[in-house]
Amino acid sequence: MIFNYFKKRKELKVKRIQFLRVEKRKILDKCEEIASKQNSSSYKRKSDKNDICPNCKSKNIVDAIKRVQGDIKGSISGGGFLSPINGRIGGNIDTNEIRKCQDCGNEWKKYECDYKLKREVLHDKLNLIGWQLEDYDDLKNCTYNENDLNEKYNSLEEKKDALREKLNLTYRVKEIEEFWTGVTFDMLDEFVKLEENRYCARKIIDNYDKDFILKMGFKELELDKI
Ligand SMILES: [Zn+2]
Repeated sequence: MIFNYFKKRKELKVKRIQFLRVEKRKILDKCEEIASKQNSSSYKRKSDKNDICPNCKSKNIVDAIKRVQGDIKGSISGGGFLSPINGRIGGNIDTNEIRKCQDCGNEWKKYECDYKLKREVLHDKLNLIGWQLEDYDDLKNCTYNENDLNEKYNSLEEKKDALREKLNLTYRVKEIEEFWTGVTFDMLDEFVKLEENRYCARKIIDNYDKDFILKMGFKELELDKI
């Protein structure tokens, strides 16, 4: 009898991991998809800015390097340029990569775009949950001090209304709904564990409220139903 119990528990444990493995892959695929969409639009922006002369619209553009000289104030002796002790540097002393138009001679700073990785997309999406939880926590613990000069609101109700409004910020609620609806609570738990030292996870841990998380669209993992 007891053996069956252990056997069953072990089976459920394996089943859980297998389920979460699939779910994790699906979510990271979704992140990848979002990242590549964002990357292709920033790639387009990059090539527009670098490959067309903003002055004459020519596409006859080459790479060039330019040393941009800033003005140096005060004495600089020892410790190098960036030493905070001696002198101050106004403007830039920098070697900039620039683009140069072969037709009109116009030069401009090369535009670099930052590519997004799927992991960063995941952090962004976790951040949304953290912010919601934090605002919900503020609402739950909201107090009003009528003797406080710094109190921005006229009453507790008014203050709560403002917090409620913040909590219902449509873009955030919508984004959470779009990304997280149907994801299991266990999966969120695993992601938080994985990103434990990051801001996005810390915010969730610090303001943790399971009921509210479920209300955001997460569901319980019911192993007997999978
Ligand atoms: Zn030009």
